[in-house]
Amino acid sequence: MTAVVVSANADAIDRAAAALLHGELVVMPTETVYGLAGDATNPRAVARIYAAKGRPQFNPLISHVCGLDDALKHAVLSPVAMRLAEAFWPGALTLVAQRRTESPIAELACAGLSSVALRAPAHPVAQALLAAVGRPLAAPSANRSGRLSPTHARHAAEDLGDDVALVLDAGPCAMGVESSVVAVDEAGRPVLLRPGAISREALEAVVGPLADPRGVDAPASPGMLTSHYAPRASVRLNAVDVRPGEAYLAFGPTPFAHALNLSPSRDLTEAAANLFAHLRALDATGAACIAVAPIPETGLGEAINDRLSRAAAAR
Ligand code: AMP
Ligand code: MG
Repeated sequence: MTAVVVSANADAIDRAAAALLHGELVVMPTETVYGLAGDATNPRAVARIYAAKGRPQFNPLISHVCGLDDALKHAVLSPVAMRLAEAFWPGALTLVAQRRTESPIAELACAGLSSVALRAPAHPVAQALLAAVGRPLAAPSANRSGRLSPTHARHAAEDLGDDVALVLDAGPCAMGVESSVVAVDEAGRPVLLRPGAISREALEAVVGPLADPRGVDAPASPGMLTSHYAPRASVRLNAVDVRPGEAYLAFGPTPFAHALNLSPSRDLTEAAANLFAHLRALDATGAACIAVAPIPETGLGEAINDRLSRAAAAR
């Protein structure tokens, strides 16, 4: 079975919903990256997600819901989590919270943990699909485990095309990096498990300082593997020169020819949106190494640097 890539119109969304209710998988657009969606309440569909990605089953999936009312059927949200949900949903925020025993989300989607990761995506196609299915959708990024996340429908089709019923194409993802993942620890403090498309500054403006997952008694995020988001080429960070055999990924004005630029004007939002597609394009040149310009650590720079350092990590 090779996936059909279709424009995400109302008819295609209905077909995708029918496939999901049959336990099949669908690639769905979100504002962060394309997701590999399956019915979160169907253990066999969830198992197919792990198999298609080659993802270890100790790494739990995010379940997508329409909004806060829906989320409250599956998790108990602490006051801090409620404030975050009210401020950022629908949007690029994932909350890890105590799972309700009566939630129909398959235990496999939570990797057997007593917590559940929930997100209400803002993308209109994702919202329409969730409404049509009427069930939560488990959806990690639509790439083989450890590889670059897809920000265009064709990237997802190239990686996972044989394993899905349909790829819903809604053009390039607006944000381009994955959701920010926040948990609340036993003392009620918010912990940033994964920097992502909502900046630390924006989150802290709502709930105050975020604790670092290292060193606090926080729920571990089993998915934060050191090597991840890896292109075929090796990756060299903070590069201010280009060596023989390297392709250059610039940020801001650059003297180097044959470079791709994350953002000529040093706009971190634009850089996040371009990150994975540019890494893919430079990888496809056959260069042995991708040299990446220094990126500031502020705003979305934290998520961009997190992805880049994992791409550069020893494999
Ligand atoms: P992905 O689905 O690839 O975007 O990754 C989801 C991230 O959320 C991974 O880093 C997971 O380990 C993390 N995650 C999902 N569920 C939980 C949970 N119940 N507790 C802690 N981290 C979680
Ligand atoms: Mg992923």
